[in-house]
Amino acid sequence: MAERIPQRIDHYRYTDKGVTLEGIITELESDKDLLRLQASVINQQGVIHYHLEFDKDRIDNRFVHGHIEAKVIMQCQRCMENFSLDLNCDVSIAFVHDDFEQKQAEDSGYDVFWLSEKELFDPRILIEDELLLALPQIAMHPESDYGTACQIQYPVPENKQNFDLDAAVSESEQNEIVPEEDNPFAVLRQLKK
Ligand SMILES: [Zn+2]
Repeated sequence: MAERIPQRIDHYRYTDKGVTLEGIITELESDKDLLRLQASVINQQGVIHYHLEFDKDRIDNRFVHGHIEAKVIMQCQRCMENFSLDLNCDVSIAFVHDDFEQKQAEDSGYDVFWLSEKELFDPRILIEDELLLALPQIAMHPESDYGTACQIQYPVPENKQNFDLDAAVSESEQNEIVPEEDNPFAVLRQLKK
């Protein structure tokens, strides 16, 4: 039985001691607690694996390095069929509390995670943020050398033998693009800046 992920951690203590958090978040736990992720996908399948190593570097960036893996089901916006997508996130995040730390962390190549000085935080929020950021803005079956894996065939008008499939698709996509301010991920992207 996997140990449950702690729900409140002190990043000062974790980065001082070089703690490694490794384990899984079960489907049940994800259904109950990772509501932002659940709202963004059709379904999240199986367990979420995480491996997170907390540490400090030479110039005192407090950071977490690691890896998160999950499988989600999304709806293809081209053919409207569901498809499964593996999410593999490499994590390299520094904890920051002010503009100085943010700049130092970003100059060192980290993404940043804002915390107030004394705040304990739930590592599942960080895991969920990373998975959300790994989701495609427009979900579509992956393309291969043989074209897309979409199951439907677009009708080719008889008078248009050279019907441009890609142009037709991108035209229909343009109508579906969510304005940046309405896009729930826009907020996350702002936070990462
Ligand atoms: Zn498709």
